[in-house]
Amino acid sequence: MSSHKENEAWKEAAVVEDRNFRPNKGNGGRRKAPFYKVLQGMPIAVDAFRYGSIPDVTAYFLTHAHSDHYTNLASNWKSGPIYCSQGTANLIIHMLSVDPKWVHPLPMDISSEIPNTGGVRVTLIEANHCPGSCLFFFEGPQTVNAGDSVFKSSYVGSTRTFRYLHCGDFRASPKHVLHPAVKGKRIDHIYLDTTYLDPKYTFPPQPLVISACAELAKRIVSGQSTTDDAGGKTRTVDSFMSVQGRSSEKKKDGKILVVVGTYSIGKERIVKAIAQALNTRVYCDARKAAILRCQSDPELHALLTTDPISAGVHLVPLSVITSDKLKTYMDRFQGNYTRAIGFRPTGWTYTSPAGSDSSPSIPSILSRAASRPPFTYASLRPTRNSTGALTLYGIPYSEHSSFFELTCFAMSLEWGKMIATVNVGSAISRGKMGRWIEKWEAERKKRGKTEVVKYRELDYW
Ligand SMILES: [Zn+2]
Repeated sequence: MSSHKENEAWKEAAVVEDRNFRPNKGNGGRRKAPFYKVLQGMPIAVDAFRYGSIPDVTAYFLTHAHSDHYTNLASNWKSGPIYCSQGTANLIIHMLSVDPKWVHPLPMDISSEIPNTGGVRVTLIEANHCPGSCLFFFEGPQTVNAGDSVFKSSYVGSTRTFRYLHCGDFRASPKHVLHPAVKGKRIDHIYLDTTYLDPKYTFPPQPLVISACAELAKRIVSGQSTTDDAGGKTRTVDSFMSVQGRSSEKKKDGKILVVVGTYSIGKERIVKAIAQALNTRVYCDARKAAILRCQSDPELHALLTTDPISAGVHLVPLSVITSDKLKTYMDRFQGNYTRAIGFRPTGWTYTSPAGSDSSPSIPSILSRAASRPPFTYASLRPTRNSTGALTLYGIPYSEHSSFFELTCFAMSLEWGKMIATVNVGSAISRGKMGRWIEKWEAERKKRGKTEVVKYRELDYW
């Protein structure tokens, strides 16, 4: 699609996304699917359940079980087969009562042929987002102009093989670009999770944040210092506690409860790491436990208990991790704990320092990681409204890619077109994201050949 045509297609997409849309006879009783929900030339839709039966689509894919991706998917679904990972299949059958006859879980990491699509194959790649989430890598011919868009592909019926990588929601890592299904291949379209496609979104790699939380919890529970050895100026629990006229040493003998907030599915990795570091069990209510049991995670299942008092870690809704709500929660277990530590994992909590470049060059973005200070337990600070009995922490834990990671990902693959799938509602936001995509393209051209951006570890840049 030419850039003029693409602009027109986005305009068409904006019209169909209209909030005031009401189904009636005149509009066919359904919302029209925007072009980026249906793969070009293939009878395949991704995360497009809100549009009902899309013309000529024979395979409906779901990247993961977050509500904004499965909108309208319910027990009455009958528009066609749904393909997803085993974890996502369990979740949509359990949470949404989708009739299992429509749900087709596919294996991870190996290519499977998708029935009734003219020979398109798909490989599922772990997305590093929530449990069950995956990227879809499609390979095959263009056989049909499916969907509602008026823009038609001229390659339909040609013998060329097209490759599309749909990222759903993901946290980009070197593992994605090194995956044998993708590595070294030219990808025609990448559908990108552009949640944080803006240089102001910087946050540390997930594995570092997870181990920082686990280490911090261990130190607090065992009464060790939570300041770094260099005695940094960071405001820590110890300094905080002395301000409050209590010493953390004194608290050592009391029972401390760690409470982690989550919404929907996701962030289980922090909970697991903390429970393992403290050598304790995890408690959550029965509804949440049933959802956790849908996930293929035996390690997590083994940690779960139905007895809140025997668990050193509780998993609660995110809204509980505020000083007043957490106090109410703790009152339920009066006398059992002397203190609560609340972890509130949220996405982006960092703001770029004032005066930082809002339009850095690609090479300067790529060289940033090396200059970042390490992220450790000492980087985590209690929030201002913490008290001796309730200490709260905001955790910069994101299950979406940072701007830096998106740039590393885009520079490590060879692609024809990058299509934004998040924050596409306004022309201004699309314009801003489009300029970054153009910058990536220009830098790739300048470099001539595509090389995987140097990484610190296999699971983060
Ligand atoms: Zn998601």
